[in-house]
Amino acid sequence: MTALTPDPLRVALWLATQGYAVHPLAPGLKVPIRGCGRCSPGTAERPNSAYVEHDGRACPCHANGRPCHGVLAATTDVDRITAWWARTPAAGVGVAAGPSGLVILDVDCHGGDAPTDPERLLPGIELPNDIAPGSVVDGRDVLALLVEARRATLPGSAPETLTVRTPSGGLHYWFRAPVGTQWRHGSGELGWQLDVRAGTSYAVAPGTVTRSGAYVALGDCRTVAELPVWLARDLDRTGHRIRPERPRVVLPWRSRRVGSGYVAAAVEAELRAVAEAQPGTRNETVNRAAFSLGTLCGAGRLDRGQVADVLADAARHAGLPDREAMAAIRSGLDAGGRHPRTLTGAAA
Ligand SMILES: [Zn+2]
Ligand SMILES: [Zn+2]
Repeated sequence: MTALTPDPLRVALWLATQGYAVHPLAPGLKVPIRGCGRCSPGTAERPNSAYVEHDGRACPCHANGRPCHGVLAATTDVDRITAWWARTPAAGVGVAAGPSGLVILDVDCHGGDAPTDPERLLPGIELPNDIAPGSVVDGRDVLALLVEARRATLPGSAPETLTVRTPSGGLHYWFRAPVGTQWRHGSGELGWQLDVRAGTSYAVAPGTVTRSGAYVALGDCRTVAELPVWLARDLDRTGHRIRPERPRVVLPWRSRRVGSGYVAAAVEAELRAVAEAQPGTRNETVNRAAFSLGTLCGAGRLDRGQVADVLADAARHAGLPDREAMAAIRSGLDAGGRHPRTLTGAAA
C-alpha cells in the first residue's frame, strides 16, 4: 500500500518503473492537462484562437518535454515525469493504455435504463430466459452475465489483477495485452456499460483524486494479470482486436508456373506459405511445404528438381539462409516422396 500514497509524482514514477507510460491530467479533472498554446484546440465554448492544427504524433512539443496531446505525450522517462509534476504537482496521473501494453475493462455505473433487448445488453451472447426484470442495473450486472455465460471468473472481492474503483462506483480491471497483440478502445460494443480502454485511450491511475472523488485500488493486488483468454476472445469477437494487415507477398516466380491445374494451385499455396513465413517458423514451414510437394513428386506429378528450385527461391524470399533451406527442402521432399499422393478425382 505504501507505494500507492496519493502523491501524484510517486504514483507516476511507481507506474513508470513498471513500464506503464503516464501523462499528466488537469488538476482535479480526468482530462489531460492543457497543452501549450498552439497544441490545444480548446473547448467548443472556449475555442483557442492560437491553436494550430497539426498531427499530435509528430508534435515538436514532445521532444521539448511538453505534455501536449495527452496520451501521445505519455512516457516512462523518469526525468521527464519528474519535471512534469515539478511544474504541476497536483496533476493527476493518466496511463496510456496502448503504449503501456494494457487492456483495461471499464465497467460503468452510470445508472439509466438497461436495454430490454438482449442484443443491446450483451451483443452476440445467449442469455438465460429467467433474468428478473430490473435486475440489470449497471455495467457490473452486465459483466456478471457475461462471466456466467462464459463459465469464467473475474477478480471479485479479492482481486487477482489491479482493480480500480472510480469516483462514480465503476470498476477498472487492468490487464496486460498478450504479447504481440494490439487492441483498440471501445464503448458499449462488448456490452451495455462495458467499455474498453486500449490503444490510444487512457485510464486514470489509482491514487488520483479529482473533484468527483478518488480512484482507489481495491484489495491488496497491485499486479496486472494477462488478459484472460475468454475475455480476449470476446473482445476480438466484438471488434476490439487490431490485426495488422500483412501485405500479400508478390511472388517473383509467377512466370515459372510449376505443374498445372490442381497441382499448380498446390505449388502456389505452398510457395506462398514459405515466402510469408515468419522468423521462428520458417524452417518448419519449408519442411512441411517440401513434404507436401514431395508427395506429388512421389506420384510423378511434379519434377523434384524444379520443385526444389522454386522452394529455395521462396525460402530465400522469407530470409532463410540457403544452407538451412536446402536441408529442410531435401528432407521434406525425401519424406514426402515416400508417401506418393493419389489424386483421385482431382483435375490434375
Ligand atoms: Zn504543444
Ligand atoms: Zn502539438
